[in-house]
Amino acid sequence: MLKVPKVLIIGAGPAGIAAAAKLVENGFNNVIILEAEGRIGGRIHSVEFGDGFVDLGAQWIHGEKGNIVYEMVKDLDLVSKSQNDYNSFTFYLSTGKIAERHTTEKLFNILKTIVFQDGECNYNGSFKDYIKEQYTKRIREQFANEKNILELSKAMEDWFCNYYITYDAAESIEDFSVNNTIGSYMECEGHPTINWRKKGYRTLLDVLMRKSPNFSTALPVEEKVQLNKKVTKILWNEPNCPNSVVVKCSDDSSYEADHVIVTVSLGVLKNSHSDMFSPSLPPYKVRTIEGLYFGNLVKIFLQFRTQWWPDDFKGFSFLWIEDDKARLQEECPYFEPSNNGRSWLEDIWGFYAVDNHPRVLLGWLTGRNSKQAELLPEEVVKIGCMFLLRKFAGDIYEIPEPEDILRSAWSNNPNFRGVYSYHGVETDRLKVAPSDLAVPLSAPGGSELVLFAGEATSMYRYSTVDGAVETGFREAQRIIDEYSSKTREQQHIYF
Ligand SMILES: Cc1cc2nc3c(=O)[nH]c(=O)nc-3n(C[C@H](O)[C@H](O)[C@H](O)COP(=O)(O)OP(=O)(O)OC[C@H]3O[C@@H](n4cnc5c(N)ncnc54)[C@H](O)[C@@H]3O)c2cc1C
Repeated sequence: MLKVPKVLIIGAGPAGIAAAAKLVENGFNNVIILEAEGRIGGRIHSVEFGDGFVDLGAQWIHGEKGNIVYEMVKDLDLVSKSQNDYNSFTFYLSTGKIAERHTTEKLFNILKTIVFQDGECNYNGSFKDYIKEQYTKRIREQFANEKNILELSKAMEDWFCNYYITYDAAESIEDFSVNNTIGSYMECEGHPTINWRKKGYRTLLDVLMRKSPNFSTALPVEEKVQLNKKVTKILWNEPNCPNSVVVKCSDDSSYEADHVIVTVSLGVLKNSHSDMFSPSLPPYKVRTIEGLYFGNLVKIFLQFRTQWWPDDFKGFSFLWIEDDKARLQEECPYFEPSNNGRSWLEDIWGFYAVDNHPRVLLGWLTGRNSKQAELLPEEVVKIGCMFLLRKFAGDIYEIPEPEDILRSAWSNNPNFRGVYSYHGVETDRLKVAPSDLAVPLSAPGGSELVLFAGEATSMYRYSTVDGAVETGFREAQRIIDEYSSKTREQQHIYF
């Protein structure tokens, strides 16, 4: 009989929990999960707010066909299609009026076609210049006789850049390269925003661990998690123990294992890999960590005493007219932080309805100011948000003060350092891919000592929970396969 290998998993996010569940399900019970935070879930963080749960991290299942999370839960009566697919918008102008719908739809569709549908091209410039060139050309063609289109089309271009970078949580549209942006990420067919009905995305962790009420027998996974255990050192391929890995934590505890699955975010790897791994990671892996991007955005939830917007409302999307933008510093005392003169207030591109939360609005803050804006006092964020809502929609609605505010702060948390990974100009320049990050580190004898899972190691579904889950299963399966081939070899010897 082969001994049951000892497996350490670093991180109890969806990738770590998925890996542990698969190992345990296959009889690999000697598993410990070390988690730096005081909770499981990682970038799944559902918290009670107002009349239910909201998600500070992952919120929706993106697509149905081929989406491993959707496939797992579709028959469990836990999810429904969101009322808001972030695909059609009502635009409010900084002058306080609603922008004419037919024109804004046309402008939005032009931009959508340029970035989502046109496919690869050979353009030798930045992505921003590419959009500008294409957009200007198409506006000239489609709005030839309309004199006043320029102000509105510029406002839409600025808004669209903010909206578009939210998909990747990029700092700027300049980060993308023209040829690859429409590249390796694969959409799953079906509804793009599928919502968890009751307790938020946290429900998925229970499904992975097969907990009741949906399953009769839970997998023993949660009891294998050790919370508040921050890993500081991973000693692999050391001369005195070539076939095992020693992991050290910030509380001076240490663990020895046959295999370690690392699931920490790309942000954590970027910041800590040189101190964390001994010996250092091989150059190709360092290059990959440097070449993949890790972005940020801030989610801001405002809860009001009653719903003051109509039932069929989806959201307020903010279109800044240049003259109003120029007056922003005079009008709002909380203009800072600002990057290159651009205030964090310009980086909030709208507030939207939240499923199952009739009294809550969700605002999105993206771009270079988002990291510093996370550090603003809550009261300042509230004043800034109310300034915006009243500026854009205050002539149309009587807008009361919110009762409560909740916002995310992922990039200033050392256990995450941002929200999710994306690919940009450096990824292309260095010719790196998630598959390079996923290659395990092996002992001289061939056994895989350190394995890498987590969303950033997913080739086609990076940045998503389903991508993270798939990578957790993938690395658990790698260990299972190693031992089943060893078992076969042994059987061969004995029979
Ligand atoms: C604001 C936001 C919105 C998002 N929206 C969506 C969405 O709608 N749909 C979607 O599919 N995805 C969304 N995502 C992305 C999704 O949440 C992530 O892709 C997914 O959670 C990544 O899972 P993971 O297991 O790879 O990493 P994580 O969830 O980050 O798990 C890694 C774990 O490692 C722990 N850790 C870090 N360092 C150490 C250390 N040194 N020692 C021990 N433990 C450590 C962390 O605390 C964490 O728990 C969103 C993310 C954010 C932040």
